[in-house]
Amino acid sequence: QISERLKKIARFLPKNGTVADIGSDHAYLPIYALFEGIVQYAISGEVAEGPYQSALSNVRKYHLQEKISVRMGDGLAVIEPEDQVDCIVIAGMGGALIEKILHTGQNRLEGVQRLVLQPNGNAHLVRNWLYENGWQIIQETIMEEDGHIYEIIVAEKGHMIIPNEVKEKQLFFGPLLLKENSPILQKKWAMEKRGWMKILNDLQKAKETEETKRKKRQLETYVQWYEEV
Ligand code: SAM
Repeated sequence: QISERLKKIARFLPKNGTVADIGSDHAYLPIYALFEGIVQYAISGEVAEGPYQSALSNVRKYHLQEKISVRMGDGLAVIEPEDQVDCIVIAGMGGALIEKILHTGQNRLEGVQRLVLQPNGNAHLVRNWLYENGWQIIQETIMEEDGHIYEIIVAEKGHMIIPNEVKEKQLFFGPLLLKENSPILQKKWAMEKRGWMKILNDLQKAKETEETKRKKRQLETYVQWYEEV
């Protein structure tokens, strides 16, 4: 049984397109998306041997070798222009890693219409990258499953119009998530805030260095943003 998180990601894939699932692990997402008739072809990319083998064996198990190409490689390097990929999914990794994969693979993004990104933490790094590189967030969602809160960001080519003075804050929380302001969003940031306050408290007691001062300023900014929204 596939997770609600992956099902939700699958709902954001363009109909009848070709999707590249980067860091596909078991390849559950492309297998589900094909069985549900959402996409017509998929590439399952993996950098690690174990997950790559797991993807290969699941694709064989469901007799989808003609529909899912399982490839070993780093990030977007598994995508070739002739694949005509419409949509890239990068899910279940930290925001910093997703940002790095997008940054390193810039030249593979030509022709790609949509990105569906699900960072586990540090989502603001992903949003900042999108903002800086000509992608606009067209949908965002936040959900809870098995005690974890997940954010899904959907972007297409274009420019986000955000007033400069609120830009950092909006990209931190997610412009569309802020608009919706769901109870899960509130729960997530209330939890994060408790963590920040605890670190701030520990920093008060620690010996002051340039690094602790910087960290303190950053966390105080986050707390202030939290209070504002
Ligand atoms: N995308 C699946 C999901 O959301 O359920 C699997 C997430 S799994 C936690 C992360 C996977 O990303 C691992 O299998 C890991 O090997 C892969 N990965 C990490 N860095 C990668 C990279 N640079 N290129 C491709 N895959 C990568």
